[in-house]
Amino acid sequence: MGDKQSTKRGIVAVDGPAGAGKSTVARILADHLQYLYLDTGAMYRALAYKALKHGIDLRDDESLADLLKDTEIILQGQGQGGVQVRLDNHDVTDELRTPSVNASVSQVAGLKTVRTEMVRRQRHLAENGGVVMDGRDIGTFVLPEADVKFYLTASLKARSQRRFDELARRGYPVEFRRIQEEISHRDLLDESRHLAPLAQAHDAIRIDSTDMEVEDVLARMLAVCRQRLL
Ligand code: C5P
Repeated sequence: MGDKQSTKRGIVAVDGPAGAGKSTVARILADHLQYLYLDTGAMYRALAYKALKHGIDLRDDESLADLLKDTEIILQGQGQGGVQVRLDNHDVTDELRTPSVNASVSQVAGLKTVRTEMVRRQRHLAENGGVVMDGRDIGTFVLPEADVKFYLTASLKARSQRRFDELARRGYPVEFRRIQEEISHRDLLDESRHLAPLAQAHDAIRIDSTDMEVEDVLARMLAVCRQRLL
């Protein structure tokens, strides 16, 4: 798209609550800018998935920290904006958005030693710039020096509908009401936790996508990036 030559290898942070469409737009934005797309939620999800598999108590900070020490998580771009998540050299991409991982991930992500190590890894991944990183605390805590920060949100109903459609597409039979409960519960945990809670950075651009098409959200983000990353 010619953006590569005209923009510096900056850092773009995309934060917001569950189901706001962050990963969809962040992935396409990274493609346009020819940046690396880094989905930090997938890192927490991969650890939650492994902990569930090993039957580890999700409240046990020490055991989770030990598990993480022996855990390799690689986020691999697959072209056309696709991302493969490799956990200890296995492709677990399709296992990370199941209802059981959805229900456990915020608990795992709330543990101090887990967050410290994840944030260390995330900063390392971003150290050469040229990244679009999405999560909850990227603009506020992980990369406060990011060149562009977005806070992407939408109404609970719109976010639940999108998650419902996504799960239905993947063949998970779920009730809308349950999705809405799960998302609002996860928001509550993410917003109320002590460490780097979900919050809008003071210098982030807020986009409410409730009544917006993906293309419009993207166009807005791209316009800002082109201006700021010149
Ligand atoms: O973005 P996604 O919904 O995949 O994130 C899953 C969970 O991981 C979030 O609900 C949150 O608990 C946690 N998370 C986090 N910090 C991040 C990214 C995700 O705590 N930077």
